[in-house]
Amino acid sequence: MSQQGYVATPPYSQSQPGIGFSPPHYGHYGDPSHAASLPGMIKPAGPLGTTAPGVMLPPGPPPPGPHQFGQNGVHASGHPPQRFPGPPPVNSVAPSYAPYEPSTQSSYSSLASTSSITQLGHQLSAMQVNSYGSGMAPPSQGPPGLLSATSFQSPPQPQQPSVLQPGSQVLPPPTTTLNGPGASPLSPPALRQDGLPGPAPVNAQYQPPPLPGQTLGTGYPPQQANYGPQVVGTQLSYPGGFPGDPAQMAGPPQPQKKVDLDSVPGPIQVIENDRATRGGQVYATNTRGQIPPLVTTDCVIQDQGNASPRYIRCTTYCFPCTSDMAKQAQIPLAAVIKPFATIPSNETPLYLVNHGENGPVRCNRCKAYMCPFMQFIEGGRRYQCGFCNCVNDVPPFYFQHLDHMGRRLDHYEKPELSLGSYEYVATLDYCRNNKPPNPPAFIFMIDVSYSNIKNGLVKLICEELKTMLEKLPKEEQEETSAIRVGFITYNKVLHFFNVKSNLAQPQMMVVTDVGEVFVPLLDGFLVNCQESQSVIHNLLDQIPEMFADSNENETVFAPIIQAGMEALKAADCPGKLFIFHSSLPTAEAPGKLKNRDDKKLVNTDKEKILFQPQTNVYESLAKDCVAHGCSVTLFLFPSQYVDVASLGLVPQLTGGTLYKYNNFQMHLDSQQFLNDLRNDIEKKIGFDAIMRVRTSTGFRATDFFGGVFMNNTTDVEMAAIDCDKAVTVEFKHDDKLSEDSGALIQCAVLYTTIGGQRRLRIHNLGLNCSSQLADLYKSCETDALINFFAKSAFKAVLHQPLKVIREILVNQTAHMLACYRKNCASPSAASQLILPDSMKVLPVYMNCLLKNCVLLSRPEISTDERAYQRQLVLTMGVADSQLFFYPQLLPIHTLDVKSTMLPAAVRCSESRLSEEGIFLLANGLNMFLWLGVSSPPELIQGIFNVPSFTHINADMTVLPEVGSPYSQQLRMIMSVIQQKRPYSMKLTIVKQREQPEMVFRQFLVEDKGLYGGSSYMDFLCCVHKEICQLLN
Ligand SMILES: [Zn+2]
Repeated sequence: MSQQGYVATPPYSQSQPGIGFSPPHYGHYGDPSHAASLPGMIKPAGPLGTTAPGVMLPPGPPPPGPHQFGQNGVHASGHPPQRFPGPPPVNSVAPSYAPYEPSTQSSYSSLASTSSITQLGHQLSAMQVNSYGSGMAPPSQGPPGLLSATSFQSPPQPQQPSVLQPGSQVLPPPTTTLNGPGASPLSPPALRQDGLPGPAPVNAQYQPPPLPGQTLGTGYPPQQANYGPQVVGTQLSYPGGFPGDPAQMAGPPQPQKKVDLDSVPGPIQVIENDRATRGGQVYATNTRGQIPPLVTTDCVIQDQGNASPRYIRCTTYCFPCTSDMAKQAQIPLAAVIKPFATIPSNETPLYLVNHGENGPVRCNRCKAYMCPFMQFIEGGRRYQCGFCNCVNDVPPFYFQHLDHMGRRLDHYEKPELSLGSYEYVATLDYCRNNKPPNPPAFIFMIDVSYSNIKNGLVKLICEELKTMLEKLPKEEQEETSAIRVGFITYNKVLHFFNVKSNLAQPQMMVVTDVGEVFVPLLDGFLVNCQESQSVIHNLLDQIPEMFADSNENETVFAPIIQAGMEALKAADCPGKLFIFHSSLPTAEAPGKLKNRDDKKLVNTDKEKILFQPQTNVYESLAKDCVAHGCSVTLFLFPSQYVDVASLGLVPQLTGGTLYKYNNFQMHLDSQQFLNDLRNDIEKKIGFDAIMRVRTSTGFRATDFFGGVFMNNTTDVEMAAIDCDKAVTVEFKHDDKLSEDSGALIQCAVLYTTIGGQRRLRIHNLGLNCSSQLADLYKSCETDALINFFAKSAFKAVLHQPLKVIREILVNQTAHMLACYRKNCASPSAASQLILPDSMKVLPVYMNCLLKNCVLLSRPEISTDERAYQRQLVLTMGVADSQLFFYPQLLPIHTLDVKSTMLPAAVRCSESRLSEEGIFLLANGLNMFLWLGVSSPPELIQGIFNVPSFTHINADMTVLPEVGSPYSQQLRMIMSVIQQKRPYSMKLTIVKQREQPEMVFRQFLVEDKGLYGGSSYMDFLCCVHKEICQLLN
């Protein structure tokens, strides 16, 4: 538990940036031509380059020419040649610094009060509304100063302000609140077609949501009496909803027409536009504040001084200069950091810098690490820190002359001077107790209670472990893995196994005192896999038989984690526990749980209790685990309520992963589970990690969301962090930011590698600052915004009523858009809804978030499922949260079997389905293959090898290998979709008008939800109404 001075060592001292003198001007900042002119550099096609989409530049080897530093240790011993005896001594110009002052709590938190909205309403009442250009051109292609925005109104009457007169319906703000069940009638916004490619549909006039019985869109038969239209038109079940019932809608009577989704902006168009303009290109990170391609766009990223967007994405790449501006816009300022993100093989892996015993060069004051933001002065003898402005002496071993531009001669030979991301070898100062760490260990802990034995799970796990243990992760240069392994089985007692290599048979030791678990053996518990292979195999063969006759139903849970942690502690190494568990731990022991799943709490102020752990045992256990570098990954196989909110807490706080397989059935679910297990064992991971996010003066990190543990306000502790985990960091102002120096972020992660090396991983990112609101809006990234909103909302469900959280989300969405309209858009009729170009899809994504089962207070949804999804989202990176909230829906019936491209996705709406169609839907957790009743027989034959729709047996989770081109192509598409995702997606075959279709339909997120949740159209109306209220 005690860290014995570990945290207080130099790497993470408490120094904070203060308010110093202004930094020197960074001459090369923001000049894209700078890097392009470097010898040997690939000229970046850039974000707006001319390289045609689809053209891939050669895979990125380490940049040739000047970039000669070695990779992963090659440069290790190479200190720069030292031609001068070293810089003159110490601080003659040490500036005096203002003491660090924590900012007062900003009121522009995500928990915006309604009063601030009212205030804005007052402010906005006298506003001048402006007009603006078309939203089609990417922002930077527009004429300078021209704002890119999207607005909507009915295409046939582009000059008419609206279909429904603003004064008559929209503007008199209803007195009801968003959540009020009896909110008054609402008019839809008028919509304009510009910004949306594709022919304007005939009669594309905006229509209110359809009446019951009305058809949604084209190609879908109206006879689906149990479908969309009814749901859309019926009683609002969305708890945070608003009246969308078109029958109540005021305004001139209109002919009934189909709702045309094309008249409102959709994610697919935005995704496709970005792919078309930026896909397949090289994106060089040489410019401060540039907006990266969307997460859905494939491109090659080249580090030229800022961290790749694979590591860091921001809600906006231009911060407002003042906190007043930030409060005005209410756009969250946040970075989503995935420090161990997987880098594709055609991009350069991180370089490793080794300064030997000297260790990394750091600012004396704020402890920031040497990086491209440090400015060398006085002939190279000193440098000014870009974060706190402190002038530091260059240590003698690090001295180098400057060239005529004031840049060090070795600038391009040192990763830490020219790259956004790199690693340092850490010295002993950075290690626990100043000792090099031991390599980590994996401990496998199998629940051998009756149900797990009976359904074959124990046998499956044991069989699979034999092969998986040969694939333990290892350092690239090593032949074998340094990871040691251990085994425990348990029900209401614990069984430890001695698998020492010289034993003929494994030995079992039973610990029955689960009240205070101890580790009965040290020698022989954690072993090298190769050395002990035969004993381990012997053990794995025996375990299923050993407990075959057991009738034990009760299990413990906390003592298992305690035992694993004690074993790692005794072995003095970090590690990971793999726990395979099935039931509510009801046996008498610490952490014992009772079934407290009370659906009566749903939709009350006490609903939050369902998300809180039942006992505080798990939180203190998690704290101990983090203190000892023990990460817990939990595979759950529940057949009923198991209290995920309690069981999942330790995995969440220790950087582990929670996997859940409801009602596990061997023949259907084993493939998904085994894929997850394999992937989890092999994935890249760092142990015993501390992350620190430093910022330049004027702002700082104030809140952290993710699988993290915080002992203080600045150090993010993680027992482990793997390639799929992201931490979202929120920033607040504590002073003014300057347009010249921008806003700089440095994320440093100190961790232990799988080989037992202590390292620092550094990511640097420079953002712009502006005193123009328009710049702020132009630089937003909606995918990152939704990641932030989801995490902050899901964190808040522990403490606040869900109704309040939903209100806050809707209010803040409206507020952001209203502020844009007031300050950045050109005049337009009040009935027009105006969205900034960068936020075109904010409403549709926000609605998806609001409809997620975590925020949807409905008793029909399993409490465990809600707790599970809440936990998953908290650690997601931007790409995963984007897919999770807006699933990918691909038409399969139009498949070109000769093409290697994925078919173009369609919007997640029933109106996009057709009886003759086959569609694949994926959200990162689930995959569905939906088959229309009139699907082409040749496709059905090709995919399932049966003659017709009725012959398809939907009871399968893996498609048969038919050998036809359709079959091969479809399975290839599925594996491509699966490839980059952290969770194995279970495939469900859905036949139109058969039972599982109800489940599938929940993922058509633009439609009204089965269990409530507005349609996108309804939500747009709701947001528009809010905006109008704010503007009045
Ligand atoms: Zn500094």
